[in-house]
Amino acid sequence: MADLLSAMPARSEAALERERLVSLINSMADGVIAADEIGRVVLYNGAALGILDLNTSISGLPLNSLAPVIDKNNQPVDLSQLVLATKLPTSLRDLRIKYPDGSLINLYLSIAPVRLGFGQSGMKGYVLLLRDISREKSLEEERDEFISVISHELRTPIAIAEGNISNAEVIAGKTGNIDQIKDALTQAHDQINFLSGMINDLATLSRAERGRLSVEVEAVNAYDLINDLLKNYQPSAEDKGLVLRAEIAPNLELIKTSKLYLREILQNFITNAIKYTDKGSITLTASPQQGGIQFKVVDTGMGIGHQDQEKIFNKFFRGEDYRTKGQKGTGLGLYIAMKLAKLLRGQISLQSELNHGSTFTLYVPSLSS
Ligand code: ADP
Repeated sequence: MADLLSAMPARSEAALERERLVSLINSMADGVIAADEIGRVVLYNGAALGILDLNTSISGLPLNSLAPVIDKNNQPVDLSQLVLATKLPTSLRDLRIKYPDGSLINLYLSIAPVRLGFGQSGMKGYVLLLRDISREKSLEEERDEFISVISHELRTPIAIAEGNISNAEVIAGKTGNIDQIKDALTQAHDQINFLSGMINDLATLSRAERGRLSVEVEAVNAYDLINDLLKNYQPSAEDKGLVLRAEIAPNLELIKTSKLYLREILQNFITNAIKYTDKGSITLTASPQQGGIQFKVVDTGMGIGHQDQEKIFNKFFRGEDYRTKGQKGTGLGLYIAMKLAKLLRGQISLQSELNHGSTFTLYVPSLSS
C-alpha cells in the first residue's frame, strides 16, 4: 500500500507531462511526428495528419507507410530509411508528397534525432517537423523565373544598343559617314526605347502586385484619346506596311476613369496588334456602352489558337508560335492590362481565330468619383 501510494504521484506526474506535451504539439501549426528508434510513430499532432491527408490513427505505423514522398527528380524516398540515417538535425526543402489523386505538395521536413519519452524511461528516437511550403515554393519558382526572363529580355536590347553605339563610334573615327552613324544611333535608340517601356511595365507590375496602384479619376474624352494613340502609333504601323485607322462613334460622352491606365491598356493592345500582324490593318473603335465606353482593337494578324486564348493573360505567357518568338516581348503586357482593367472595374475580352486576326475588347465604366 505504501509502495502504491508513493508510486502514484510519480505516475501522474508523467501522465501530466505527457498531456502537456500532447496539448503543446497539438496547438502547433506545423505537423509534428515523433518516431522511435526503428522509425515507428509514437506521437503526432493533427497538423501532421492534415499534411499527410490522413484521418486515422498513425500510432505504431512505420514512417515509410504514411505517404508517398518523392524527391525533386520524382524518385520515391523511403522516409524510414531517410530518418534512421539522420545523425544530426537536418532540414530538407526539396521533398514532395504525392497524394492518391495525383496532386502534389512541397514539403519542408526537419528531422532531429532526440531522446524521447518521459521521466527516466527515455529512449532514442526522432522528431519530425512537417510543413506544406507549396505556396512559398511557387513564389520562389515564380521569382526565379521572373529573374531569368527579365535578364534574358534585358540582355538582348542592351547588346544590340551597345553594338550599334560602338559601331557609330568606329564609323565616326574612320569614314565619318553621317548616314551610317545616324542609322546605327537610330537602332540603338529603338532598343533604349524598348528597354524604357519594359522598365515602365515592370514598375507598374510591381506596384500592381503590391496593391499600391491608386486610381486617379478624371473626365476622359475617348475621342481625343483614340486620336492621340492613332497619331503616336501611325509611324510604327506604317513601317510594317499596315493601315492603322479609327472608327469612333459620334455620340461619345466623357467618362470618368483613369486616363493613365486606360491609355496603358489600349497601348498594350495596339503594340501587340502591330507586333503580331504582318499585313492588313488595325482598327481602333470606341462606342458607348452601359454607362461607359467599349473600345476594340481589331487586327488582321496571326490570331491566337483556342488553347492559348485562356493563357495569354497569364504572367510571362508568350505564344509558342515562331512568329511570336520572332518578336520582342516579356509576356507581361496583357497580364498588366488585365490588372489595370480590374482597377478600372472594366472588362477585357478576346475573340480570335488563328491566322485570321484578333479583336481585343475593353469595356470601361464611368466611375462615380
Ligand atoms: P508579349 O507581347 O510581351 O509576349 P503580352 O502579354 O502582351 O506579352 O502577350 C502575350 C501573348 O499573347 C503574346 O506573346 C502573343 O502570343 C499573344 N498575343 C497578344 N496579342 C496578340 C495579337 N494581337 N495577335 C496575336 N497574338 C497576340
